Amino acid sequence: MNVFANTYAENDHLALASDLATINELGFRIIPLSRVVDWRQGSLSDEEVSRSLAITFDDGSWFDYYDLDHPTCGMQTSMINILREFQARSGAAQAVHATSFVISSSAARTSLDKSCMIGKDWWGDQWWLEAAASGMMDVECHSWDHVHPELDHVAQQDQIKGDFSQVKNFTDSEIQFKVAGEYIATVLDGKRPTLFAYPWGSASDYVVSEYLPKYRSRHQYRAAFTIDPRAVSKTDNIWLLPRFVFGRDWQSPQGLEEILSNTQI
Ligand SMILES: [Zn+2]
Repeated sequence: MNVFANTYAENDHLALASDLATINELGFRIIPLSRVVDWRQGSLSDEEVSRSLAITFDDGSWFDYYDLDHPTCGMQTSMINILREFQARSGAAQAVHATSFVISSSAARTSLDKSCMIGKDWWGDQWWLEAAASGMMDVECHSWDHVHPELDHVAQQDQIKGDFSQVKNFTDSEIQFKVAGEYIATVLDGKRPTLFAYPWGSASDYVVSEYLPKYRSRHQYRAAFTIDPRAVSKTDNIWLLPRFVFGRDWQSPQGLEEILSNTQI
């Protein structure tokens, strides 16, 4: 959802279109994030995921799904339509897929739309079911309210905002993980999310060592993702799986190529 100019470095959409071509040229396969977790949990062989990567988007604004006329940068092709166009061009050679980690609370999204985006009501959940049914995009969870500093009230007992590692007791965790998943399921015809991306990539010891491992039947997640910039390994904690982030970890096609070339996959 970063659209500041129509250049690679300042536009997530242009960067994705370019990065898909780079990924293809380097001979990498795009697989669903859930397959990465399957491999980490031992139900896929190393061969089945060799030279593979998964694509994720965070926060779940309409930019993931609808083409939108941005007030200063003009028409922006949605992330899913960029995937579709790339898939159509590359044919069966590359099955494209991405995972969108959405903010669950509609009140939080409505408020953040005004304070953090453009105030055009572009953060609704009308597209989640269609996206999930497309086979090209999974809808997973990015917390209840992101404990976002722009919100008046957050689901954190001391109202500490802007730091998801301050979610560190059972009550706060139930809202950010379980209640968040239950709401997403009401939109997805009952399908609970099973993957979680921590806001700003951080999590407390309580969440990683107590809540997520011990209450699986309540929250129903099977893995969670940070933004530690490296490839997933077989020895990673399933509740602390790493991700590279566009903008922070690479700012050019060459930057992505370096990451892919230097990473043992
Ligand atoms: Zn986020």
